[in-house]
Amino acid sequence: MSAKKVNDPDNRHIDERKFLIELHKKSGGKPCFWKHEYGTSSDECIAIPKGEYDTHACHYRANGIKRAESEPEVYNTRRIPGTGEARSDNREVAMKLGFIVMDTARRKYTFSRETHEYTTLAEDIAARKNKSEAGKGTRFLDAYRGRYGKSLGWLAKDRHAWDVKHRMTLDPQDFKQVYGATKNNALTDYDDAFRELATPIVDKAQLAPINFHIPQSDNPAMQGLGKWFPYEHDHHHMIPASAFQEFVLNGPSTDPSIMNYMSRARIVMQGTWNIHNPDNMILLPNEVYPGRILDLAAHIPWQMGADHKPYSRELESALEPVLKLIDAGLKQTPETPHDAEETAAADFSQAMKRICDKQRAKFLKKGFFVLEPR
Ligand SMILES: [Zn+2]
Ligand SMILES: [Zn+2]
Repeated sequence: MSAKKVNDPDNRHIDERKFLIELHKKSGGKPCFWKHEYGTSSDECIAIPKGEYDTHACHYRANGIKRAESEPEVYNTRRIPGTGEARSDNREVAMKLGFIVMDTARRKYTFSRETHEYTTLAEDIAARKNKSEAGKGTRFLDAYRGRYGKSLGWLAKDRHAWDVKHRMTLDPQDFKQVYGATKNNALTDYDDAFRELATPIVDKAQLAPINFHIPQSDNPAMQGLGKWFPYEHDHHHMIPASAFQEFVLNGPSTDPSIMNYMSRARIVMQGTWNIHNPDNMILLPNEVYPGRILDLAAHIPWQMGADHKPYSRELESALEPVLKLIDAGLKQTPETPHDAEETAAADFSQAMKRICDKQRAKFLKKGFFVLEPR
């Protein structure tokens, strides 16, 4: 099993799992360091139930949206790449970079089919995918270009099409061919979901689902199309769960009988730091073209996988101080173990918030780069 799987509580020994779930339930979800599925919790797993999608402390997608909506400047008016100036809107930058062009015959803005991201680069990736599995690259290219055309096409029509909190006004024609893609890189059509979530307004116009919102919302008015709309995106953990488990809970120990995965987890679960809280979340585009336009990191582009190990590995040294802090609490004199653990938990929670904030500042300063798979 990979380090990621071994370190996840859901894959650990049943007694350990039960112990951690007990701690999670007792603390009311305040501290947490692992991901949960949707459904009903049991004594063997924590799950996020229907009716708590918008409020559950561990629902990282909902928290990612909250975080993004609390800082619209990051997504709507971020600096123009290569300058220190704020943009007036995302279309302005898309045109500057050549992703949106004027169709002079039809006298309207449209997406460009001549960019590196649409032509050679996408074709190279498709060729590589075809080599690894017959047909995969061809499927990929179809779905990718579908998304590219849709996302940029909307932005060509509406300069605020990519803004957080925005809802586009669209014609039913625009509802056709709303593309996503399956894990298998094949094209998926979201026509029906789109139609279901849109609100009719005057004439034929429809108010599109709210940008970036997810189908799992409790409130129908807040439901959205999730991952694919208005551009393909992910909610990235600044400190990923796998890195935290590997480098903190299972980090090197000078005395494994006292300082080990479970005793460290016990400290973490006495604190207030939740790995899914908005401090640790950042909404990022997946593909390179919105990354360049928005001047933000592209999160594992080209449907290359679900993990970014090089990024996670880099966090080992950033997380070393919290490992030391927890272990120092565990090493305290046996007369006051409880106080020592509580103090360590409080210090740990504060230190984690600082690390998240620092990591976010680094991301935003850096602007566009690629979070690579493998
Ligand atoms: Zn949790
Ligand atoms: Zn990520």
